[in-house]
Amino acid sequence: MTDSPRERLAAVRRDAIERLASLEAQLDDIAEARRGANSDDEHDPEGSTLAFDRAQAAVLAADSRHVIEEVDAAVGRLDAGTYGVCERCGRPIGAARLELRPTARLCVTCQAQAERRSG
Ligand SMILES: [Zn+2]
Repeated sequence: MTDSPRERLAAVRRDAIERLASLEAQLDDIAEARRGANSDDEHDPEGSTLAFDRAQAAVLAADSRHVIEEVDAAVGRLDAGTYGVCERCGRPIGAARLELRPTARLCVTCQAQAERRSG
């Protein structure tokens, strides 16, 4: 792959925007269906399925929004010349990792440490 980080980030952003648009359409449909069903979530089995679908779509939509924010932050780092530098230890993040995860803020070592701490 000879894509530049900027191209990779643009592709990730495009995907996230597409996903977000389809999730928002899904959320609209669910809202519509709930209005049509004229039911309350607790007692109508269909209502609770819709509530579950809605919750799931909302989580995925929030996730896509987060990806878009991360892409924008990464583009900001590209502009600032700090892209690919670990925010914690200041070492290079590494081309292979950036290819897999163009929005990475931390190197593999720091990421593993951060995950151990939070998880
Ligand atoms: Zn690091």
